[in-house]
Amino acid sequence: MRRAVTTDLRHCDILIVGGGIVGIFSAISAAEAGARVVVIDAGLPAGTNANAGSLHVQMQSRLLRLFPELAVNVEASLPLYLEAVALWVQLDAQFGGFELVQNGGLMVAESQAQLRFLESKARREAQLGLTVDVLDRRDLDRIADYLGPNIVGAQICREEGKLNPLIANRKLRARAFELGAQLVTAKVTSIEARQDQVRVVAGQSYTTDQVIIAAAWASGDLCRMAGKDLPTKWEPLQMNITEPAAYSLEHLIQHAERPITLKQFQSGQIVIGGGWPAQYDPESPVPEVLEESLIGNVALAGNLVPAIRNLRVLRNWAGLNTTTDGKSVIGRLTGTERVVVAIPGDAGYTLGPLVGQAAAAIALGRKPQFDTTPFTPARFR
Ligand SMILES: Cc1cc2nc3c(=O)[nH]c(=O)nc-3n(C[C@H](O)[C@H](O)[C@H](O)COP(=O)(O)OP(=O)(O)OC[C@H]3O[C@@H](n4cnc5c(N)ncnc54)[C@H](O)[C@@H]3O)c2cc1C
Repeated sequence: MRRAVTTDLRHCDILIVGGGIVGIFSAISAAEAGARVVVIDAGLPAGTNANAGSLHVQMQSRLLRLFPELAVNVEASLPLYLEAVALWVQLDAQFGGFELVQNGGLMVAESQAQLRFLESKARREAQLGLTVDVLDRRDLDRIADYLGPNIVGAQICREEGKLNPLIANRKLRARAFELGAQLVTAKVTSIEARQDQVRVVAGQSYTTDQVIIAAAWASGDLCRMAGKDLPTKWEPLQMNITEPAAYSLEHLIQHAERPITLKQFQSGQIVIGGGWPAQYDPESPVPEVLEESLIGNVALAGNLVPAIRNLRVLRNWAGLNTTTDGKSVIGRLTGTERVVVAIPGDAGYTLGPLVGQAAAAIALGRKPQFDTTPFTPARFR
């Protein structure tokens, strides 16, 4: 990308496949520890470039509804989300601000049945250390009087927040460059893990002591190149952003039953998403926005916050999310000494820096800052 790859960088200490939030933060962590780092990215439609900047902590109802079989794994991962958001807060201070606001996330209910669902969800989440409450409409009006008349109450998760990913991505990439990490645009087509080193082919051949596979949905294919199976799937999702309005939405807003995330950037623009499907043909460069998703998504947003109904949608876009089994995948690929996998679980942008940091620690032979045993790739044997 910016710097030419010098011949000596054909051999590095750590080669990272994937330049999304996980790969870039792995690069920062490894380079800060003194490693010579190369990041190779194919320029595919990364979630990192498409994401909405929601800092998720509570379980998303979208996931519980669409993938109920993953609920156990997501619930078991909740303490990781607390650590992940704490790391984002620290990075926001360290890098001079990503427009991060941590005023809590509201998951709104439109019926008493939905409110009861939120009450039972909140009880389970409180046991796992989240700061959650269920608010009735009167309490809600004190903090979010902009919500529509259908809303009867909401769960609030105080640790949730939002940031501007365009700013965060730019600043973190700049930090990786500053630390000497080399970024190469190319597609990795072969990974051969040998006893003494790993050989990676991406247009040209590289050798490295350690590889970190941080290629989201494509990680499964890359792991197969290294001789192991890992189930990763892509999920094309789309987003919308409106023209600016006076800043008034302090919270991240979700719904107890329907797919939506809704928030306001400091620019005043409203970002609307939350898992509405786009369409993807792997032969095309990017996923395509679907009209029915666009209409359904913004109509729901206008229903929840009537004051935004008259705003024009300025832009919409789509990107690839990744699903595995609901939990992050962090650790050495089974039976290898030199290949580390780093795939964040659901809400992967929130988890990205934490997962990247842990992967770098493992590749450096250090102890990660949290116990990564539950996230080992070995569980897919
Ligand atoms: C529309 C949308 C909105 C989202 N909103 C949120 C949100 O608000 N909050 C949240 O927490 N999460 C959100 N997510 C999820 C989040 O964006 C992703 O989970 C996260 O960014 C994944 O980061 P990553 O670094 O693992 O992978 P990615 O950012 O997907 O990057 C993977 C990289 O691997 C590269 N790659 C793949 N194959 C190869 C290869 N063979 N050789 C070289 N490079 C390769 C690709 O080019 C890509 O750049 C959203 C996702 C989408 C799609």
